[in-house]
Amino acid sequence: MATYQQLINGELVDATTGDWIDVENPYTNEIIGRAPKGNENDADAALSAAKAAQPAWARQTPAARAEYLTQFAQVIRDNRIELAQLLMHEQAKIAGLAQVEIDVTAVYFDYYAGWARKYEGEVISSDDPQENIFLFQKPIGVAVGICPWNFPFFVMARKVAPALLVGCSSVIKPSSTTPLTTLRFAELISSLGLPKGVLNFVTGGGATLGAALTTHPYSDLVSLTGSVDAGVEIIKNSAEKIMKTSLELGGKAPAIIFPDADIDLAVKGVTDSRLIYSGQVCNCCERVYVHSSIYDEFVSKLKASFEAVQYGDPAADGVTYSSQIDKGQLEKISGMLDRAVAAGATVLTGGHVADKGTGYFFEPTLLEGAAQDSEIVQKEVFGPILPIIRWDDYDDVIAKANDCEYGLTSSVFTTNVSTTMQAIKDLNFGETYVNREHFEGIQGFHAGWRKSGIGGADGKWGLHEYLQSQVAYIRY
Ligand code: NAD
Repeated sequence: MATYQQLINGELVDATTGDWIDVENPYTNEIIGRAPKGNENDADAALSAAKAAQPAWARQTPAARAEYLTQFAQVIRDNRIELAQLLMHEQAKIAGLAQVEIDVTAVYFDYYAGWARKYEGEVISSDDPQENIFLFQKPIGVAVGICPWNFPFFVMARKVAPALLVGCSSVIKPSSTTPLTTLRFAELISSLGLPKGVLNFVTGGGATLGAALTTHPYSDLVSLTGSVDAGVEIIKNSAEKIMKTSLELGGKAPAIIFPDADIDLAVKGVTDSRLIYSGQVCNCCERVYVHSSIYDEFVSKLKASFEAVQYGDPAADGVTYSSQIDKGQLEKISGMLDRAVAAGATVLTGGHVADKGTGYFFEPTLLEGAAQDSEIVQKEVFGPILPIIRWDDYDDVIAKANDCEYGLTSSVFTTNVSTTMQAIKDLNFGETYVNREHFEGIQGFHAGWRKSGIGGADGKWGLHEYLQSQVAYIRY
């Protein structure tokens, strides 16, 4: 079994506890590696190193800092197959998608390296003719990044790249479920000559190590991608410090299918969105509202599409998805479906745990007849289960789409430009996709409304998460 280490102050180290986290391949149910099980002492060591390193790092030019991001991208490309294989094994992500995640992560580092000569402050007009007002943009300081298990490698880069580019130092905590690809990356970059302490990786539990990173006096920002529950804990734990938090949390994305939609395009978009990575994606379609006039045709085609999906070995050709991440996740989604059926919903296809010998599989599942206020329509499922709801009235469907504690993403399928523009105006979500599945661009801004989060990532605005302003009034 492979053993991985943390990266603290430029050194690869075990946890101070001497304990380990066993990492399971969810498809084979074998333990494939172990990661250090750090606690508050590891948090303190990493944050102390990051605190000491940050001022000198901030004094380097953005272009000099960007050179390291470019090297990270190159390291990823040089090891792209190995990293993708490891990612596939630790989270049962199908091989093609694991490779996409690795490759996009390299692009992400390159993208933020490109911001080195582009981000800027402002010169503001003064009321005094003999004064200039300069607004400087300065790094927040020590940025903690806490990552989920579903896109562990890409989300790591989302937290590292903008932070380092603007002059923050960084401490990253991967999910205990999927720490290995991130720790392998830490090992690969440990010989690049990055100043010690600028970038640190620690592993351990959320309630222990994660909480210690949040409450420690040296952390200046915590950026979490994860569940609402973890977001609430981080807000509570950081309240005394009055610290900035950037939270990317869950979603319950509606897709609205209009009467004039390209039905085949909509069927493909909804299928791909719901079933990618076994439905375990924050921004994927979690409920679909279909206009009565096309309901029968759309549902019949969507059912055929779901029934054609192959799922199984993540390394096999032609599979769309593999195992759920673990037994707990399988039991959670299974229980949600049982309660939906008990409350009156009808399963159109699927509906069962699937026995493949090993792994935690659930069939691609469609159901209709679930009430708007039911759990399956309101709460994040994070699995291959999709409720379908019929609609007739535009105002009613928009109200139902908006009627949700989450506000991450949404989508509409229509060929009418006026419908498109009106729906974008009326939908209260951080992102709206038109005639495509739910996936964001790195130059956009991935940010949720309501309980889906505070702040966001990617593009220019993602960079600003790691900056704070200083205004200087200069009389001459
Ligand atoms: P999770 O909240 O269980 O864990 C996320 C991370 O937070 C882990 O590293 C965990 O150890 C840590 N954590 C947990 N409690 C903590 C605490 N009290 N203090 C500090 N850290 C703590 O989430 P998960 O199960 O890994 O991921 C799935 C969730 O993430 C879903 O709800 C999904 O929608 C969401 N997600 C959101 C986005 C987005 O961009 N909005 C992207 C991916 C996943």
